[in-house]
Amino acid sequence: MKTNKGNTGKMILVSNRLPTTVETGPDGPVMKPSSGGLVTALKPVFKARKGYWIGWPGEGHGDEIDEMLAGSNADSACQLIPVALTPGERKGFYTGFSNEIVWPLFHDLQARCNFDPSYWKAYVSVNRKFAEVTARVAGNDSVVWVHDYHLMLVGEFLRGDGVRCRLGFFLHIPFPPVDIFEKLPWRTQILRALFRFDVIGFQTPRDQRNFLSCVRRFLPDVEMQRADEEVRAHCNGRVTLIRSFPIGIDFDEFNTHAQQPEIAARVAEIRGDMRGRQVILGVDRLDYTKGLPERLRAFQHLFATYKNLRRQVSLVQIVVPSRENIPKYRELKVETETLISQINGQFGDPGWMPIHYIHRSVDRPELIALYSAADIALITPIKDGMNLVAKEFCASQVDEHGVLILSEFAGSAEQLNNGAVLVNPYDFGAVAEALHLAFRMAPAERKQRMRKMRRRVRNANVFRWCDDFCSCLENSQGKAAKAA
Ligand code: UDP
Repeated sequence: MKTNKGNTGKMILVSNRLPTTVETGPDGPVMKPSSGGLVTALKPVFKARKGYWIGWPGEGHGDEIDEMLAGSNADSACQLIPVALTPGERKGFYTGFSNEIVWPLFHDLQARCNFDPSYWKAYVSVNRKFAEVTARVAGNDSVVWVHDYHLMLVGEFLRGDGVRCRLGFFLHIPFPPVDIFEKLPWRTQILRALFRFDVIGFQTPRDQRNFLSCVRRFLPDVEMQRADEEVRAHCNGRVTLIRSFPIGIDFDEFNTHAQQPEIAARVAEIRGDMRGRQVILGVDRLDYTKGLPERLRAFQHLFATYKNLRRQVSLVQIVVPSRENIPKYRELKVETETLISQINGQFGDPGWMPIHYIHRSVDRPELIALYSAADIALITPIKDGMNLVAKEFCASQVDEHGVLILSEFAGSAEQLNNGAVLVNPYDFGAVAEALHLAFRMAPAERKQRMRKMRRRVRNANVFRWCDDFCSCLENSQGKAAKAA
């Protein structure tokens, strides 16, 4: 692989998916915005900086994809560069290794893992492919920022091919404790590969601590020195900086939109449809880490325990379809929908539905209207790297009346513990109690709590996150470090 000397100083983002995905519609291929937290978080960063974004462009033929991306690249300072993958590669690398091994394991759900050795082979070869495409555009002064658990080996392949520019890696999902991570058959290879980056970023101090414990256990030759919240690790003559950088959102975007007259009109409409009942809102991808069945059982418990709350609240639950080709996700859909119909059947009547279920992605204006209209947000993942929905809810709450009930196992709980009602999502009784408390909470207390959270979300926004990570990376020793 050869690096491109002409592309100096540019930011190169590398992620599994590009921000736009090509999908095959009835009239042929069409480009659609990609969904999910990572893309939502990176889009404003990408807009604000010049450079490249490298990732999988979706299904389609090479020429078609190149043509479609060329159209969107023409009028932009930032270019999208595709990494084309065959259906077989996608299956082994994405569906297999990434989502049947790393995803469940890193969310502490080892029993859901399928440690198929063929998945590892696909993961290695696709990571190599991503590195090859990246090396083609990386110059000596480029800054390469690799994202997430799909691409943990890219640094190793880039260094192996002589790429010397600064390389950073950010993990958007949690990092598990040592007695869970040790189950991974490829644990040492992955840890070693990560040390080819100059900066490794985690969402929370807890993830950073877990990672350091794993390094102490499986790579005893790595020397580590702590200076405040940063750890400098020495591995094979290279220094890697390890720190937590909690990801934020574009606060102003949500806050400004929520004040627009069209959104305010839609908020009034939603409240009217709910006829004065308190609106409890849930917004989740259909994923077993989001704790949907546990949440629904807590909701069932609420109506069984507090009969007076019947007809006084309704849950609006948005469930965004996700990873539908993985059997466990299909089973979860059936389980979720069965529980919803049981609860509606058990408690509902002609004038009141306990749960309004929306099984699709809603657009940004509708989402902001729902965040603004909600009286309570019920966000109870059993484990989550950050959970941007919690922050988006706060940013959209311009009249500060909403209560946030948040799982203590979401990364965002470390920042929003100044105003959220924290719960253990496995404890149905406690979640039902939290709902009862939120329902009765006085307006003054709601305001006080929400104001504190909004201040934090506004300050620790996505631009600050990006600046913090990039300044660490830009000051790192990438250029001076030895190439392998
Ligand atoms: N989201 C969306 N459409 C929807 C519901 C949610 O685009 O109908 C977005 C939401 O705004 C948020 C992201 O999906 O930015 C979810 O991010 P989060 O970190 O909460 O969870 P993830 O899906 O990344 O696990």
